[in-house]
Amino acid sequence: MKRNPRLRKIIREKSEGFCAECGQYDAKGECDHILPLFLGGQDRLENLRWLCRRCHLEKSIGETPVRAKSDRLRLRHELTKRRRAIDPDRAQKQRRTP
Ligand SMILES: [Zn+2]
Repeated sequence: MKRNPRLRKIIREKSEGFCAECGQYDAKGECDHILPLFLGGQDRLENLRWLCRRCHLEKSIGETPVRAKSDRLRLRHELTKRRRAIDPDRAQKQRRTP
C-alpha cells in the first residue's frame, strides 16, 4: 500500500514531534500505523501517530513474530488452494480421512 507523505506531515505537526508512547521529543521520529498495514490497517489519519525512533523500533520488533505467522498462514493457505486445483479428488479424500 502506498503511504501518503502529506499525512506524515500532519501527524508530525499535530504531535509537535512528541512521541505518542513515551512522550519524548524526537523531531526525526516515525509516523506509526497503530494497526499495522499488513494486518489490514489503513493509511489514514485515525490510524496514525507519531513515535520516537526508539518506540517505533520496539514496536516493529514486537510485531515481527505476528508478521511471520501471518505470512506462514497465507503461504499454507495458498499451497492448499493450489494442491486442490491440481488434484481435487485427492484433496477431497484427504479431507475425509481423519
Ligand atoms: Zn517514544
